[in-house]
Amino acid sequence: MAIAENIEKTQAEITSFEQKYQRALGSVKLLAVSKTKPVSAIEEAYAQGQRLFGENYVQEAADKSQQLTHLKGIEWHFIGPIQSNKTRILAQSMHWVHTLERAKIAQRLNEQRPADLPKLNVCIQINISGEESKSGISLAELDELVEIVRNQPNLILRGLMAIPAPQVSLADQLATYQPLYEAYHALAESVETVDTLSIGMSGDMEAAIASGSSMVRIGTAIFGARNYA
Ligand SMILES: *Cc1c(COP(=O)(O)O)cnc(C)c1O
Repeated sequence: MAIAENIEKTQAEITSFEQKYQRALGSVKLLAVSKTKPVSAIEEAYAQGQRLFGENYVQEAADKSQQLTHLKGIEWHFIGPIQSNKTRILAQSMHWVHTLERAKIAQRLNEQRPADLPKLNVCIQINISGEESKSGISLAELDELVEIVRNQPNLILRGLMAIPAPQVSLADQLATYQPLYEAYHALAESVETVDTLSIGMSGDMEAAIASGSSMVRIGTAIFGARNYA
């Protein structure tokens, strides 16, 4: 019950920000981040019409996708860090990978994508806060990785993803997203398949939608607080 209400409320918020920032209605998709939550929570969200789900841990993502094959049209998005020895599991079980940041991972996902599945949708992760410890490449490194991804026949480049360092004020959040917004638009102009800017979490959805997000990744506001991670 709570999950259904939370999804409705989140969808209504997305719509109101689309209006406030003159975004086309329906241009911002909702990715429900179900990491650490049981399959029953995913089934509840699915019953409410939710179809896109995000997971952070490779084995958990694969297990849940296996257990929920009866949910038609469900789409699995991987949004966690990727170790190269885990790429096969992702290539076999996911529809999307948002967190691509290395040529080696792109090549492995390409080689390991089963021939009977559609191309794997990928986003390149950008480190927009410039912190040493965070995942993602700098914008200066983007062109090189774009070329590598475009040369993988079993991958389809859909766009960019980022996880900025948490900031409280809307103005600071907007300033952080500005260079990403510009890089995304330049990429979308030059690469036909690019249509996705994966930014926005429970704490910065407004700034992300103002900054051109086309997919917000929302966990806590839908499923409640997590006990771990
Ligand atoms: C957990 C997670 C989210 C969801 O965060 P919430 O604050 O719970 O909305 C979004 N994106 C990534 C990459 C995450 O790991």
